[in-house]
Amino acid sequence: MKVAPRVIIIGGGLAGLSCALRLKEAEMPFLLLEANKHLGGRVQTDHFDEYFLDRGFQVLLTAYPEAQRLLDYSQLDLHSFQASALVRWQGKIYKISDLMRHPLDIFTSLITPIGTLEDKFKLFRLKERILRSSLPELELHPETTTLEFLKNEGFSKSMIERFFRPFFSGIFLEPALNTSSRMFELVFRMLSEGTAALPAEGIGAISRQLAKKLAPVSIRTNARVLSLQDGIINLGQAETLGAEAIVVATDGIEAARLLPDLPAPAYRSVMCLYYAALKPPWEEPIVLLNGDNRGPINNVSVLSNVCLKYAPEGHSLISVSVLGYNDEEELEFEAMVRKQLVEWFPEDAIKWRYLRTYKVKHAQPNQNPPALASLQRPVKLRQGVFVCGDHRDTASIQGALLSGRRAAEAVLADLPS
Ligand SMILES: Cc1cc2nc3c(=O)[nH]c(=O)nc-3n(C[C@H](O)[C@H](O)[C@H](O)COP(=O)(O)OP(=O)(O)OC[C@H]3O[C@@H](n4cnc5c(N)ncnc54)[C@H](O)[C@@H]3O)c2cc1C
Repeated sequence: MKVAPRVIIIGGGLAGLSCALRLKEAEMPFLLLEANKHLGGRVQTDHFDEYFLDRGFQVLLTAYPEAQRLLDYSQLDLHSFQASALVRWQGKIYKISDLMRHPLDIFTSLITPIGTLEDKFKLFRLKERILRSSLPELELHPETTTLEFLKNEGFSKSMIERFFRPFFSGIFLEPALNTSSRMFELVFRMLSEGTAALPAEGIGAISRQLAKKLAPVSIRTNARVLSLQDGIINLGQAETLGAEAIVVATDGIEAARLLPDLPAPAYRSVMCLYYAALKPPWEEPIVLLNGDNRGPINNVSVLSNVCLKYAPEGHSLISVSVLGYNDEEELEFEAMVRKQLVEWFPEDAIKWRYLRTYKVKHAQPNQNPPALASLQRPVKLRQGVFVCGDHRDTASIQGALLSGRRAAEAVLADLPS
């Protein structure tokens, strides 16, 4: 039997899905409206020519508490990256390892021009310290930029420039490391506690798993909300909907358009190019960083080294991340990126087959201080109007999922059952 929805959720990304799951658990009737054909928002994968192409290089940090609560990891068939990184610097490739997990790498990792010996011990001590404090304690630490935080920790310039800068700019999607130190501490902690992993059939399997738990009657796709006023949702073509509570679960820019009393956050952009190869440029499930910080490329991964299924048998899938956004013509842009790839892998990269580029303009909300002065921003705007999404929390899978649950809890607290 179809029950009239008491709650309408606008947006079916991770935040909207997480909100819907909590409402479902509480048996609160709701309707989720998603503008696009598919649910998942920024967490989607395309199956293209037998390759799984994530819409931008993205990983699940398995220690995210909210992901642990909501996801069935074994069903996702997660495969982890090694807790190490390759750094290309001045024409050579060096390996930096988490020595607690890869003690055998001690000689290759300790003696490299990527940071001093002291840096490696500082890294070890930082990990121990961050692991000792609890997640809520993060908010007690003073907030500064990531760069200032690393300088205050005493890391050398070479360690910051050749390792931290390319590694964390690939996560924060900005090269200046201006992102809040609280985000750095959170990510560093998650990487220390768990691994960076990919589901066997692409990152989009995360959204698909969540969506599968919802009844199809509670979801409408291809339903873009044009405007929202006085509790009435306008879907165009003279169709309006109302509910006791409305949860706006879109990205921050769209949320600010629908709810003009919300400020629109600035967004960071990233572009991801995919290549198919007959032979991987390296064999390990490990990311390669641009330690020179020169040229368009920030990092390169061979995704099929992490999960075989990302590529058809006998082939490899390579992803290349470039920070920022440009309107350049696709093939000209690809040629510019390939030039650097050929410089790095002269024999191989020339033969790689270009597959596709994803340009994600609104990839993550800016999280420069004081963005995370409070890790969790309010999700209730006023009576009957709620908001969730990664712009209300940390810009991450964890933040989106948690904000969705918080919004649902706020709705449940307001609506009599
Ligand atoms: C390339 C990339 C790499 C990333 N890497 C990582 C990573 O490695 N680890 C990590 O933890 N996080 C990463 N993130 C961040 C993470 O993906 C996001 O924080 C998270 O997915 C945001 O989810 P959301 O539900 O808040 O927003 P969204 O995913 O943006 O969902 C919003 C939904 O609302 C819909 N919508 C918008 N307007 C309307 C409307 N008017 N009517 C109806 N529906 C509407 C949209 O279509 C969309 O489905 C990455 C993001 C990107 C893009």
